[in-house]
Amino acid sequence: MLKNRILLLAATAVAAVAILGYTAAEPTQVSAATPHKTWITVDMNELKTMQVFAAMGGRFLAPEIVTVRNGIAVLQATDDEISIISEHAHKNLHKCAGFMAHPDEQDALDTIDMVTGPKPSLATVTYTIDNAATVQPMINDMAAPNIKDTITSLSSFTTRYYNSTTGLDSAFWIKNKWTTLAAGRSDVTVEYFNHSWVQPSIILTIQGTTNPSEVVILGGHQDSIRSGCSASTTCQTLPAPGADDDASGIASLTEVIRVAMESNYRPAKTVKFMAYAAEEAGLLGSKAIATSYQNSGVNVVGVLQLDMTNYKAPSTDIAMITDHTNAAQNTFVRNLASTYLSTLTVVDTQCGYSCSDHAPWDARGYAASFPFEAPMGSDNPFIHTASDTLANSDPNATHALKFSKLAGAYMAELAKGTIAPTASAEKFADFDGDGKTDVSVFRPSNSVWYIQGSQAGFSAAQFGVSTDQPVPADFDGDGKTDIAVYRDGVWYSMLSATSTVNITSFGIAGDKPQPKDFDGDGKADKAVYRGGTWYVLKSNGSQYTVAQFGLAGDIAAASDYDGDGKADYAVYRPSQGIWYVLGSTAGFSARQFGISTDKPVPADYDGDGKTDLAVYRDGIWYLQRTTGGFTAFQFGIASDIPAAGDYDGDGKADAGVFRDGVWYMLRSTGGFAVTGFGLAGDKPLPSTFVP
Ligand SMILES: [Zn+2]
Ligand SMILES: [Zn+2]
Repeated sequence: MLKNRILLLAATAVAAVAILGYTAAEPTQVSAATPHKTWITVDMNELKTMQVFAAMGGRFLAPEIVTVRNGIAVLQATDDEISIISEHAHKNLHKCAGFMAHPDEQDALDTIDMVTGPKPSLATVTYTIDNAATVQPMINDMAAPNIKDTITSLSSFTTRYYNSTTGLDSAFWIKNKWTTLAAGRSDVTVEYFNHSWVQPSIILTIQGTTNPSEVVILGGHQDSIRSGCSASTTCQTLPAPGADDDASGIASLTEVIRVAMESNYRPAKTVKFMAYAAEEAGLLGSKAIATSYQNSGVNVVGVLQLDMTNYKAPSTDIAMITDHTNAAQNTFVRNLASTYLSTLTVVDTQCGYSCSDHAPWDARGYAASFPFEAPMGSDNPFIHTASDTLANSDPNATHALKFSKLAGAYMAELAKGTIAPTASAEKFADFDGDGKTDVSVFRPSNSVWYIQGSQAGFSAAQFGVSTDQPVPADFDGDGKTDIAVYRDGVWYSMLSATSTVNITSFGIAGDKPQPKDFDGDGKADKAVYRGGTWYVLKSNGSQYTVAQFGLAGDIAAASDYDGDGKADYAVYRPSQGIWYVLGSTAGFSARQFGISTDKPVPADYDGDGKTDLAVYRDGIWYLQRTTGGFTAFQFGIASDIPAAGDYDGDGKADAGVFRDGVWYMLRSTGGFAVTGFGLAGDKPLPSTFVP
């Protein structure tokens, strides 16, 4: 093979050779003293400027250039030389990486051919923007404090250098964070993609529902680097917080994952989130994955790269990298921004050869785009130093939030799919947490709770006093209804997760307790209704909120009517038979449904995640179902206590009545059932909030 050896800036090179004490022509010197060398490729013109900068700074950069093809140089560089190249690539060229590393010369040459030659003709993608119903709720839900938290956690590792133990620890942190967010989703996996170095890449996959073979990738790099460090020693110990480069990109993606999981997003195509290892060492992680996917024929239909999202330049918000990216997909991303983020200023910029992880994908013909934090040159000047901190970028992460929203729009418009909010967090007396309402009563005469757990079996517990009002709800968010009572403004709850009793004063005697999940965190909030005013003590904080909604004489009926996972203020006004609902997402609505003597029994009868308006009238159930429409049927008699609940655990509330110790249930899946449990005078617990 012909090797075209070139000496650049010959005087400098000679000096470097003299200092390093070896040349390629002196094989006798190749011994234990031989510095470790790596094959890399770098833009030839950029290398020249790096050499000038190095010389001006009194350092020598004269790596052995094996060949130059199409303007890209193939080098065998020592760790010191790579350190100088990396330093000047980011300092003077404002690039995150700036070079690509290779296992051998052939791989370097193949890469140049891929980058500069004609791209393989992969199937072209048709870009459409028609999925606002999925995109909008998700991007509305994104919040900067979550991004800030992730950046703070990741930048607290001394360094996330790819060949360091803390770089392994940080990879574990990301995998653990993503795994926690994906809990409960059987269609989601979080896995390591292992490499030959210490730090693994991490891939979270959401299996596509209808086109799973088509893959949409959103990625960023997890590693950090300290400029000028030595690979064998100081890179592993010198602080490299990398808050902007690229904890911010990982944090922006993590917020996309959070809302995708929380809103129960189900993509039509498969979506993969990637935290690449070893970008700073020459795009090693992304290159390994792109190569693997190409070799196994994975049908990657689009790649989005987020590398640095949290440093804002004056008068611009997003800078689209136009070189080594896909023009058609870039137009799509710009259109996403103008559709969903119309107030933002989007400009074009370029970053040259191998500036980040989009490059290995682009080189293989995959459509890659790279929205960047600022025009090149106006981006964060602190990267690769100990000063790349949150304080030196956007301390509130509001800039990074824009990139989460753009990435969320990209995901749901390219992979399509829908959101199906999880069924209402409200559970009716599910003490054992199996998703089924338990037949259960509170007996005022001895203040004993008797529970026939559908899974856990029978139990009985004395809790409260005879005059207490039972308020069973899932206060600790463990999926199990907790035994609890309300006594003249004081809440006593037996938390099932910890078996501890919580006592909280909130409300006054005469208030109507409404323990529902108003903030959507999976925990019931202590709340009371007082003649038209709602007082809510949200479980996610010590603050309480006060809201005026309803009038004296209205019956409080808070529940999740709009299916966003949050309870809505709602009242039933018997005098007119009108329901007033203040949907936390859907807004205000009023509807006449029922008459003055009816008992409101709102619940999710059709299982679409939204509470349906419903009343019980002398043995007849009238339901106005959000999906199933209107229905009415007889089940029970006038003297029965209505006790709706999901007795068969199919996600749909069932009609049920309690008659002097006998339960009659009309289960939507399980059919009709009768069971004796309790005595006349007992309070059936599924019926707690029915007046
Ligand atoms: Zn970077
Ligand atoms: Zn970097």
